[in-house]
Amino acid sequence: MRVVFLGPPGAGKGTQARRLADRYGIPQVATGDMLREAMASGSELGQRARAYVELGELVPDDVMLAVVEDRLRRPDAERGFVLDGFPRTLAQAEGLDDLLRRLGRRLDAVVLFQVPEETVVRRLAGRWTCPACGRVFHESYSPPRTPGVCDADGSPLVQREDDRPETVRRRLAVYAEQTAPVVEYYRARGLLHSVDGSQDPDAVAEAVEAVLRHLVEVR
Ligand code: ADP
Ligand code: ADP
Repeated sequence: MRVVFLGPPGAGKGTQARRLADRYGIPQVATGDMLREAMASGSELGQRARAYVELGELVPDDVMLAVVEDRLRRPDAERGFVLDGFPRTLAQAEGLDDLLRRLGRRLDAVVLFQVPEETVVRRLAGRWTCPACGRVFHESYSPPRTPGVCDADGSPLVQREDDRPETVRRRLAVYAEQTAPVVEYYRARGLLHSVDGSQDPDAVAEAVEAVLRHLVEVR
Protein backbone atom coordinates (compact mmCIF):
# COMPACT_ATOMS: atom_id res chain seq x y z
CA MET A 1 0.00 0.00 0.00
CA ARG A 2 1.39 3.39 -1.06
CA VAL A 3 -0.42 6.30 0.52
CA VAL A 4 0.06 10.03 1.05
CA PHE A 5 -1.47 11.78 4.08
CA LEU A 6 -2.27 15.45 3.46
CA GLY A 7 -3.65 18.14 5.74
CA PRO A 8 -2.69 21.21 7.73
CA PRO A 9 -0.31 21.07 10.68
CA GLY A 10 -2.16 19.49 13.61
CA ALA A 11 -4.66 17.66 11.40
CA GLY A 12 -3.67 14.29 12.88
CA LYS A 13 -1.52 12.98 10.01
CA GLY A 14 1.23 11.69 12.29
CA THR A 15 -1.20 10.04 14.70
CA GLN A 16 -3.00 8.21 11.90
CA ALA A 17 0.15 7.41 9.91
CA ARG A 18 1.60 5.66 12.97
CA ARG A 19 -1.53 3.52 13.30
CA LEU A 20 -1.65 2.64 9.62
CA ALA A 21 2.06 1.80 9.53
CA ASP A 22 1.70 -0.51 12.55
CA ARG A 23 -1.37 -2.15 11.10
CA TYR A 24 0.04 -2.88 7.64
CA GLY A 25 3.69 -3.31 8.58
CA ILE A 26 4.84 -0.52 6.28
CA PRO A 27 7.15 2.39 7.18
CA GLN A 28 5.76 5.78 8.21
CA VAL A 29 7.83 8.24 6.20
CA ALA A 30 7.44 11.45 8.19
CA THR A 31 9.62 14.16 6.68
CA GLY A 32 9.22 16.45 9.71
CA ASP A 33 10.47 13.66 12.03
CA MET A 34 13.39 12.99 9.67
CA LEU A 35 14.36 16.67 9.69
CA ARG A 36 14.12 16.90 13.49
CA GLU A 37 16.34 13.81 13.81
CA ALA A 38 18.86 15.37 11.40
CA MET A 39 18.79 18.62 13.40
CA ALA A 40 19.34 16.76 16.68
CA SER A 41 22.30 14.83 15.23
CA GLY A 42 23.84 17.98 13.75
CA SER A 43 24.18 16.41 10.28
CA GLU A 44 24.63 18.54 7.17
CA LEU A 45 20.93 18.09 6.36
CA GLY A 46 20.03 19.18 9.90
CA GLN A 47 22.18 22.27 9.68
CA ARG A 48 20.62 23.23 6.35
CA ALA A 49 17.06 22.62 7.51
CA ARG A 50 17.17 24.33 10.90
CA ALA A 51 16.57 27.94 9.83
CA TYR A 52 13.53 26.99 7.74
CA VAL A 53 11.97 24.68 10.35
CA GLU A 54 12.40 27.19 13.17
CA LEU A 55 10.60 29.91 11.19
CA GLY A 56 7.81 27.59 10.03
CA GLU A 57 8.97 27.88 6.42
CA LEU A 58 9.43 24.97 4.02
CA VAL A 59 12.83 23.39 3.47
CA PRO A 60 13.76 23.71 -0.26
CA ASP A 61 12.19 21.19 -2.63
CA ASP A 62 15.46 19.76 -3.97
CA VAL A 63 16.61 18.95 -0.42
CA MET A 64 13.31 17.28 0.45
CA LEU A 65 13.14 15.28 -2.77
CA ALA A 66 16.63 13.89 -2.15
CA VAL A 67 15.67 12.92 1.43
CA VAL A 68 12.51 11.14 0.27
CA GLU A 69 14.22 9.38 -2.63
CA ASP A 70 16.84 7.97 -0.25
CA ARG A 71 14.13 6.79 2.11
CA LEU A 72 11.86 5.19 -0.51
CA ARG A 73 14.81 3.31 -2.01
CA ARG A 74 15.40 1.48 1.26
CA PRO A 75 14.25 -2.17 1.17
CA ASP A 76 11.59 -1.75 3.87
CA ALA A 77 9.65 0.62 1.59
CA GLU A 78 9.33 -1.96 -1.17
CA ARG A 79 6.04 -3.32 0.19
CA GLY A 80 4.61 0.17 0.61
CA PHE A 81 4.75 3.29 2.74
CA VAL A 82 2.68 6.05 4.24
CA LEU A 83 4.05 9.50 3.44
CA ASP A 84 3.29 11.90 6.28
CA GLY A 85 4.11 15.57 5.62
CA PHE A 86 5.30 15.12 2.03
CA PRO A 87 4.62 16.39 -0.62
CA ARG A 88 3.98 19.95 0.58
CA THR A 89 4.44 21.83 -2.71
CA LEU A 90 3.45 21.21 -6.33
CA ALA A 91 7.12 20.74 -7.23
CA GLN A 92 7.40 18.02 -4.56
CA ALA A 93 4.23 16.31 -5.86
CA GLU A 94 5.63 16.32 -9.40
CA GLY A 95 9.02 15.13 -8.15
CA LEU A 96 7.34 12.27 -6.27
CA ASP A 97 5.49 11.19 -9.41
CA ASP A 98 8.75 11.20 -11.30
CA LEU A 99 10.52 9.21 -8.57
CA LEU A 100 7.74 6.61 -8.41
CA ARG A 101 7.82 6.29 -12.20
CA ARG A 102 11.55 5.60 -12.04
CA LEU A 103 10.93 3.00 -9.33
CA GLY A 104 8.10 1.43 -11.36
CA ARG A 105 5.52 2.13 -8.65
CA ARG A 106 2.33 4.17 -8.25
CA LEU A 107 0.41 5.84 -5.46
CA ASP A 108 -2.76 4.06 -4.38
CA ALA A 109 -4.42 6.94 -2.58
CA VAL A 110 -4.08 10.37 -1.05
CA VAL A 111 -6.03 10.96 2.17
CA LEU A 112 -6.86 14.57 3.06
CA PHE A 113 -7.59 15.22 6.74
CA GLN A 114 -10.08 18.08 6.98
CA VAL A 115 -10.03 19.90 10.31
CA PRO A 116 -11.20 23.47 11.12
CA GLU A 117 -8.43 25.96 11.86
CA GLU A 118 -9.48 26.60 15.47
CA THR A 119 -9.21 22.86 16.14
CA VAL A 120 -5.68 22.51 14.75
CA VAL A 121 -4.56 25.52 16.79
CA ARG A 122 -5.85 23.83 19.99
CA ARG A 123 -4.23 20.55 19.03
CA LEU A 124 -0.82 22.08 18.34
CA ALA A 125 -0.87 24.10 21.57
CA GLY A 126 -1.25 20.88 23.60
CA ARG A 127 0.93 18.55 21.48
CA TRP A 128 3.73 16.65 23.23
CA THR A 129 6.14 14.61 21.11
CA CYS A 130 8.54 11.78 21.90
CA PRO A 131 11.94 12.82 20.53
CA ALA A 132 13.06 9.16 20.46
CA CYS A 133 10.23 7.44 18.55
CA GLY A 134 8.19 10.35 17.13
CA ARG A 135 4.90 9.30 18.79
CA VAL A 136 2.61 12.22 19.60
CA PHE A 137 0.32 12.85 22.54
CA HIS A 138 -2.01 15.65 23.55
CA GLU A 139 -2.22 16.88 27.10
CA SER A 140 -6.06 16.67 27.07
CA TYR A 141 -7.15 14.69 23.97
CA SER A 142 -4.72 11.75 24.12
CA PRO A 143 -2.62 12.04 27.27
CA PRO A 144 0.24 9.62 27.91
CA ARG A 145 -0.31 7.12 30.77
CA THR A 146 2.28 9.00 32.85
CA PRO A 147 2.33 12.77 32.26
CA GLY A 148 5.42 13.87 30.34
CA VAL A 149 6.60 10.33 29.52
CA CYS A 150 6.29 8.35 26.26
CA ASP A 151 4.04 5.26 26.60
CA ALA A 152 6.15 3.33 24.08
CA ASP A 153 9.71 3.85 25.27
CA GLY A 154 9.63 5.91 28.48
CA SER A 155 11.49 8.91 27.00
CA PRO A 156 10.67 12.38 28.37
CA LEU A 157 8.20 14.13 26.04
CA VAL A 158 8.94 17.57 24.59
CA GLN A 159 6.91 20.42 23.11
CA ARG A 160 8.10 21.42 19.66
CA GLU A 161 9.60 24.90 19.33
CA ASP A 162 7.61 25.40 16.13
CA ASP A 163 4.32 24.72 17.96
CA ARG A 164 4.54 28.20 19.54
CA PRO A 165 1.51 30.29 18.49
CA GLU A 166 3.45 32.74 16.27
CA THR A 167 5.17 29.92 14.32
CA VAL A 168 1.89 28.02 14.07
CA ARG A 169 0.31 31.05 12.38
CA ARG A 170 3.11 31.11 9.82
CA ARG A 171 2.86 27.34 9.20
CA LEU A 172 -0.88 27.62 8.58
CA ALA A 173 -0.28 30.45 6.09
CA VAL A 174 2.42 28.38 4.35
CA TYR A 175 -0.03 25.48 4.15
CA ALA A 176 -2.69 27.67 2.53
CA GLU A 177 -0.22 29.18 0.04
CA GLN A 178 1.99 26.24 -0.89
CA THR A 179 0.31 22.99 0.11
CA ALA A 180 -3.36 23.66 -0.75
CA PRO A 181 -2.50 23.44 -4.52
CA VAL A 182 -1.24 19.88 -3.90
CA VAL A 183 -4.81 18.94 -2.88
CA GLU A 184 -6.09 20.04 -6.30
CA TYR A 185 -3.21 18.25 -8.03
CA TYR A 186 -4.30 14.92 -6.56
CA ARG A 187 -8.02 15.64 -6.94
CA ALA A 188 -7.44 16.14 -10.68
CA ARG A 189 -5.73 12.74 -10.82
CA GLY A 190 -8.64 10.99 -9.07
CA LEU A 191 -6.49 9.99 -6.10
CA LEU A 192 -7.94 12.28 -3.42
CA HIS A 193 -10.11 10.98 -0.56
CA SER A 194 -11.27 13.41 2.14
CA VAL A 195 -11.77 12.33 5.72
CA ASP A 196 -13.34 14.30 8.58
CA GLY A 197 -10.29 14.68 10.82
CA SER A 198 -12.15 16.53 13.57
CA GLN A 199 -13.62 13.31 15.02
CA ASP A 200 -11.93 11.35 17.79
CA PRO A 201 -8.82 9.37 16.75
CA ASP A 202 -10.62 5.98 16.59
CA ALA A 203 -13.36 7.40 14.35
CA VAL A 204 -10.76 9.03 12.08
CA ALA A 205 -8.85 5.74 11.87
CA GLU A 206 -12.08 3.98 10.92
CA ALA A 207 -12.74 6.55 8.16
CA VAL A 208 -9.20 6.06 6.79
CA GLU A 209 -9.66 2.31 6.92
CA ALA A 210 -12.95 2.60 5.00
CA VAL A 211 -11.19 4.52 2.20
CA LEU A 212 -8.34 2.05 1.95
CA ARG A 213 -10.54 -1.06 2.29
CA HIS A 214 -12.61 0.16 -0.61
CA LEU A 215 -9.46 0.61 -2.71
CA VAL A 216 -8.32 -2.92 -2.01
CA GLU A 217 -11.81 -4.24 -2.93
CA VAL A 218 -12.03 -2.43 -6.27
CA ARG A 219 -8.61 -3.60 -7.35
P1 ADP B 1 3.26 19.08 11.15
O1 ADP B 1 3.26 18.00 12.17
O2 ADP B 1 2.87 20.38 11.69
O3 ADP B 1 2.50 18.76 9.92
P2 ADP B 1 5.97 18.38 10.32
O4 ADP B 1 6.56 17.68 11.48
O5 ADP B 1 5.47 17.54 9.19
O6 ADP B 1 4.80 19.35 10.80
O7 ADP B 1 7.00 19.43 9.73
C1 ADP B 1 7.69 20.34 10.57
C2 ADP B 1 8.52 21.29 9.71
O8 ADP B 1 9.48 20.54 8.95
C3 ADP B 1 7.74 22.09 8.68
O9 ADP B 1 7.16 23.27 9.23
C4 ADP B 1 8.83 22.40 7.64
O10 ADP B 1 9.70 23.44 8.11
C5 ADP B 1 9.64 21.11 7.64
N1 ADP B 1 9.14 20.13 6.65
C6 ADP B 1 8.58 18.92 6.91
N2 ADP B 1 8.23 18.30 5.77
C7 ADP B 1 8.56 19.14 4.76
C8 ADP B 1 8.43 19.08 3.34
N3 ADP B 1 7.85 18.04 2.72
N4 ADP B 1 8.89 20.15 2.62
C9 ADP B 1 9.47 21.20 3.22
N5 ADP B 1 9.61 21.33 4.55
C10 ADP B 1 9.16 20.30 5.32
P1 ADP C 1 0.00 16.37 12.30
O1 ADP C 1 0.98 15.24 12.09
O2 ADP C 1 -1.02 16.45 11.19
O3 ADP C 1 0.66 17.68 12.57
P2 ADP C 1 -0.53 15.10 14.89
O4 ADP C 1 -0.90 13.68 14.61
O5 ADP C 1 0.83 15.38 15.41
O6 ADP C 1 -0.86 16.02 13.59
O7 ADP C 1 -1.63 15.67 15.92
C1 ADP C 1 -1.53 16.99 16.45
C2 ADP C 1 -2.00 16.96 17.92
O8 ADP C 1 -3.39 16.64 17.98
C3 ADP C 1 -1.29 15.91 18.80
O9 ADP C 1 -1.18 16.44 20.10
C4 ADP C 1 -2.27 14.71 18.77
O10 ADP C 1 -2.16 13.94 19.97
C5 ADP C 1 -3.61 15.41 18.68
N1 ADP C 1 -4.59 14.67 17.87
C6 ADP C 1 -4.36 13.94 16.75
N2 ADP C 1 -5.51 13.43 16.27
C7 ADP C 1 -6.50 13.87 17.09
C8 ADP C 1 -7.92 13.69 17.11
N3 ADP C 1 -8.55 12.96 16.17
N4 ADP C 1 -8.62 14.29 18.11
C9 ADP C 1 -7.98 15.03 19.05
N5 ADP C 1 -6.65 15.24 19.09
C10 ADP C 1 -5.92 14.66 18.12
